[in-house]
Amino acid sequence: MKETFKNLKKVYKKYGRNYKGALIKIIVFSSFGLITNFFIPLVAAKLIVNFTSSNYEQVIYMAIVILGLNLLDKIRTMFTRKNIQIFRRGTVRNMQMALGREILKLDQTVIDENSSGTFIQRLNSDTDKMSGLFTHGLINLIHFLSSIGIFIAILFIDYHMFLYYAFASSILTFLNYLKNEKVGEKDKEYRRESDKVAGLTGELVRGVRDIKMLYAKDSFMKNLDSQIVKQNEKIFEMREIDIKFDLIIGFISSFLEFGTIIMLILLINKNIITIAIAIALYNYRGQVLTNLMALASDLLERCKNFNISTNRIFAIMNDKEFKKEAFGHMHLDQIKGNFEFKNVKFGYNDSLVLNNLSFKIPSGRTIGIVGPSGAGKTTIFSLLCKMYNVKSGQILIDGVNINNLDEKSIRSNITIISQSPYIFNMSIKDNFRLIKKDITDSEIIKACNAACLNEFIEALPDKYDTIVGEGGVNLSGGQRQRLAIARALVQNTQIILFDEATSSLDNETQRKIQTAIDNLKGEYTILIIAHRLSTIINCDKIFILNDGKMIDSGTHQELLKNNNYYKQLCENELVEE
Ligand code: ADP
Repeated sequence: MKETFKNLKKVYKKYGRNYKGALIKIIVFSSFGLITNFFIPLVAAKLIVNFTSSNYEQVIYMAIVILGLNLLDKIRTMFTRKNIQIFRRGTVRNMQMALGREILKLDQTVIDENSSGTFIQRLNSDTDKMSGLFTHGLINLIHFLSSIGIFIAILFIDYHMFLYYAFASSILTFLNYLKNEKVGEKDKEYRRESDKVAGLTGELVRGVRDIKMLYAKDSFMKNLDSQIVKQNEKIFEMREIDIKFDLIIGFISSFLEFGTIIMLILLINKNIITIAIAIALYNYRGQVLTNLMALASDLLERCKNFNISTNRIFAIMNDKEFKKEAFGHMHLDQIKGNFEFKNVKFGYNDSLVLNNLSFKIPSGRTIGIVGPSGAGKTTIFSLLCKMYNVKSGQILIDGVNINNLDEKSIRSNITIISQSPYIFNMSIKDNFRLIKKDITDSEIIKACNAACLNEFIEALPDKYDTIVGEGGVNLSGGQRQRLAIARALVQNTQIILFDEATSSLDNETQRKIQTAIDNLKGEYTILIIAHRLSTIINCDKIFILNDGKMIDSGTHQELLKNNNYYKQLCENELVEE
């Protein structure tokens, strides 16, 4: 309970505050419900007594009172529900928006280590479950309090029945508490399994092409099937506990209700209460036995769900379980584009990928990097964008340690055109607008022209408004890369990194792109990881990387003369061509 209150306060302060008005209305409208809950059984009891004494005028009068109270209660319920929606949806919306932003702040290692399901589930399902306590939980709390109010009223009417009801409802509440404890444990396990299913389903949809082409449908589905089975087993186990406990609780509450009737007969026989009071007390049984128990159990279950969900959500919000990216505070508006690696050691895990790597690149130079696959070429790019942190050594941009720079200084000044660029599932135009809000059509066309893409886009039925599909599936690999190049040209950053960006282009397009890159030379600092040597022949310098170390560097001519590995690469390429 203490945890629930702490979490409630935290969530309300951060995400629900704007909807204070709706929350107050919910409390006020629900409180009106207390009055009807209390009065209707009393009037109904009087009505029955009047019936038995053939006092029909009074019967009609009381029936009208009951009708009026019931109608008012329905209107009150409608307003309460409306405000619940305002409060619940608003809080969930605020939380989901904040969560989306927090996910983008996560350290890359956290993303690498967790399945996408971990984050998708928290954003969709946990925020919704969490908000359940705020609304239905709140109403139940009010009804719960109303039942307590009725309990107190019963104490004043007859203390024997009060003691009996108190005894009966404590037994039922205790049983419900036990049930919720057991269900809560299973719920935690269920959510873990559910995260995995969501992750795999995400992969199923994103990787559907590869799954088909690899003819791996069966083995993929075997994985997913077994995960779905595990997830459903957990639900089944959870419901099993529910069903068993409900049976026990149902049996016990039937006996307790039987006991209520016996108690009332005994009290009437001993002239302790009148028949009217007995009927009223009997009418209250729903609210003090079944209701109190159901409300208490529902409240407990919602508290438990709320705590599980809130903790899962706040695990992303705060920095404890999932590490966030850390940046410095120094801001460089427009960088010159010099950068340097100084004795950099880095590994994704314990083994080193870059081992004491040092090099310096002055602004405006074009550098090529070659080396065998796995040598650490792409890793250099990731470190330069601070997607990961070096283990030791320093990376300097314009002489400033990258660790001291703020996010914008790094990320808005460097562009990577990667091997498999991600193109967003929106129109081509919107893909550009994502990086430059107020971009004009002519700027887009100019960039696409430079990336040799204009002709292709103009031939599409919707031209620049064509939707490209998730990850750009409606485009070929080469078109995706050219779109990424055009996107980079629009970004107009001082440092441009090409990661084998031209490798999947045909010779003709590659030559055109090469011209585009050549046009950038001198103005920008360009680093090119090259698959084909023809891309880097004209670079100011070429680095040869092996096993995370720079083993040689020089111009194409120098390396051709002095470096056997490079010479071999050139000869292989000639043979291939
Ligand atoms: P290159 O670009 O030269 O082919 P990379 O820099 O991509 O090489 O990779 C260097 C090494 O780091 C490889 O052994 C690769 O398996 C490993 N590696 C790359 N990315 C990750 C990652 N996210 N997590 C763990 N290991 C990685």
